[in-house]
Amino acid sequence: MIPKKNETLELEIIDLTHEGLGVAKLDRYPLFIENALPGEKVEALVMKVGKKYGFAKVLKWLEFSSDRNEAIQGELLRTGIADLGHLTYEKQLDFKRKQIQDLLKKNSHLTDIKVAEVIGMAEPVGYRNKAQIPVRRVNGQLETGFYRKHSHDLVPIEDFLIQDPVIDQIVIKCRDLFRKYGLNAYDETAKTGLIKNVIVRRGFYSHEVMVVIVTTKPKIFRIEQLIEELVVEFPKIKSVLQNIHPDNSNNILSDDFNLLFGQEYITDTLLGNQYYISAPSFYQINTEMAEVLYQEAFRLADLSKDDIVIDAYCGIGTIGLSIANQVQQVYGVESVGEAIEDAKINAKLNGIENVSYRVGRAEDIMPEWVSEGVKPSVIIVDPPRKGLAEGFIESACEVAPDKIVYISCNPATFTRDVARFAENGYQLQEVTPVDLFPQTHHVELVGLITRKK
Ligand code: SAH
Repeated sequence: MIPKKNETLELEIIDLTHEGLGVAKLDRYPLFIENALPGEKVEALVMKVGKKYGFAKVLKWLEFSSDRNEAIQGELLRTGIADLGHLTYEKQLDFKRKQIQDLLKKNSHLTDIKVAEVIGMAEPVGYRNKAQIPVRRVNGQLETGFYRKHSHDLVPIEDFLIQDPVIDQIVIKCRDLFRKYGLNAYDETAKTGLIKNVIVRRGFYSHEVMVVIVTTKPKIFRIEQLIEELVVEFPKIKSVLQNIHPDNSNNILSDDFNLLFGQEYITDTLLGNQYYISAPSFYQINTEMAEVLYQEAFRLADLSKDDIVIDAYCGIGTIGLSIANQVQQVYGVESVGEAIEDAKINAKLNGIENVSYRVGRAEDIMPEWVSEGVKPSVIIVDPPRKGLAEGFIESACEVAPDKIVYISCNPATFTRDVARFAENGYQLQEVTPVDLFPQTHHVELVGLITRKK
């Protein structure tokens, strides 16, 4: 039976999707429902019906789950900032582990792999070292906040829960200064206004701050005074950049940067090394747990002095540089040129000489290394959500490394790639999930893949 749009139903939630939506079934027809947990009974309004599934919205809870975290409500759930925050933290960790186990079965046909308990945070809030905040006009006033899920409607927010609280304070200060100096917020529909986004990065250990103001046009009226006021209040701001981005694309940043104050980078430390981080470079947003994740990766890699290691998708070099002193040689590859420039500076900064870097796509550079006779014993990969290209997997396996250590932020592509490695004579041994993104549905893991004997 397919329900009708605008129909009110009493439903029991039986499952949770990987995105954290509650699942209810009417006969066998699935309905997905936000902010509803397994075991809960709800009165729900049907919002959308498709051929195979539909969406409904909770009008009233008839029974709550004992796994519900009452502390998180409303805005944060609606924006997706903390889209799993309604589940207790302990259950969030179970949910993430089960997701990996299910996908290993479904995509890699593996049922007997050891998936360790998810390593969680002691204080699973305030962890993000970076915020990318849209600036819009709401009810006639410039506001900072976050988009309501599946929309570009801004919900004004001051406490983002999962961000470093100092970052929240800086965002509020920027908002107040934009208002004071009469700057106009960007309007996506009319394509008018100046200020699109404010991005704040704060070093977890260094406390150094970078602010990037994304605008539609170059000129910001009285920007010098604005920055002076900002920096007086937050003297740890080392860098203020403008990014000029006139069009409506989904990428927040363009290539067009303009230094407004201080330097073009901040520094921070990770596993004892110092890093130079520039605005376009990727840097793990949860420093504390990135350290835990990398240590797990190194435990699985079980490195020795003779190892030749490839650090693929290396960003600013954090993984390879952390282990360079334990191995013979590290080769890094990364597609963003600025990140490789940072990686080279970072090698120097830490007095590391046995690393070399190339800019390019890992799937293009890997075969280059193969044809040049580079013989890695360990390959560490840390790709974005889309996972590894098939060509990368083939040429990686061609050089027959003993171990591949795969760090993934997407278990769906990870498990797909595990199956591809299996076709090339490699098998997954074990997986450790590490919670880099508490209160959200995002999952991070590291897996060890070895050559079949
Ligand atoms: N290992 C780093 C970065 C991981 S994020 C760290 O932990 O900090 C993934 C990185 O892969 C990003 O820096 C992104 O720019 C880069 N990237 C994306 N697609 C790529 C490709 N096809 N080849 C190489 N690098 C790529």
